[in-house]
Amino acid sequence: MTDLTTYAENTWCPGCGNFGILNAFRKAVSRLEAEGIPRSRLFISAGIGCHAKIFDYLALNGLYSIHGREMATVQGVKLANPDLMAVAFGGDGDAFGEGIAHLLFAAKRNADMTLIVHDNGVYGLTTGQYTPTSPKGFKGPSTPKGSVEEPIEPLTLMLVAGATFVARGYSGRIEALADVMVRAVRHRGFSFIDVLQPCVTFNDTYKKYNALVEPVQHDPADFNAALTAARRTDRLPIGVFYEANEPVFHQELLGEHNPTQQRLARAERLERVGHIATRS
Ligand code: SF4
Repeated sequence: MTDLTTYAENTWCPGCGNFGILNAFRKAVSRLEAEGIPRSRLFISAGIGCHAKIFDYLALNGLYSIHGREMATVQGVKLANPDLMAVAFGGDGDAFGEGIAHLLFAAKRNADMTLIVHDNGVYGLTTGQYTPTSPKGFKGPSTPKGSVEEPIEPLTLMLVAGATFVARGYSGRIEALADVMVRAVRHRGFSFIDVLQPCVTFNDTYKKYNALVEPVQHDPADFNAALTAARRTDRLPIGVFYEANEPVFHQELLGEHNPTQQRLARAERLERVGHIATRS
């Protein structure tokens, strides 16, 4: 299907920010195809939560994952077939809670993949519990008197963990989000997009985001400027905060070898593993 639609009934709440992310990604795929990257090269995965339904609504190759493991899933697929372009969708509870170890290591090793986080600051599918990005004071079923914790800062976390592409989008700015998605997929290395995504049922942040978002102003080659912008709370810049070229994980590990196209005899595999294990 040309617009990537599937047979699945859409069960997101009317007005949910997830619709903006879905529409932006459809636009991004269309633009990538126009640039010569066919959709057959894309491989997607998702975790568990409202965000993960996007997997059902995109007619693309992929594999459903479990909570917080979508990042590990696409890294494995990338190692098996480096020709694929891996994209994982995660939620904020999913990526910054259950899956945070996978997140940090994907950034640290510069895995060649894109992670798109549907960051709504709440566990929507399970009716409104607080997550790692919920603001202090957030009230929900698990924090009826208000969360006493400070939220994590996703962009700061990814910058210091070594991510080579760090961006923020807003589901209410679809064209700008599609631009960032195209750049993220094309980037060689770990691409992270934190998408501000209102949950109209349990954490409606449209008013706040509409008032505070503005385009990023700094040069994305400037790491310190990216850190400063990431820590701002008076405004919420959207766009690419940081981009750098660094060696990517699968090439450091395998060179140009593609396991799905070049099967190796056992002896040669062992020799290569020994080479990796003994090189300094
Ligand atoms: Fe969207 Fe929230 Fe409804 Fe889930 S519960 S579909 S995140 S509005």
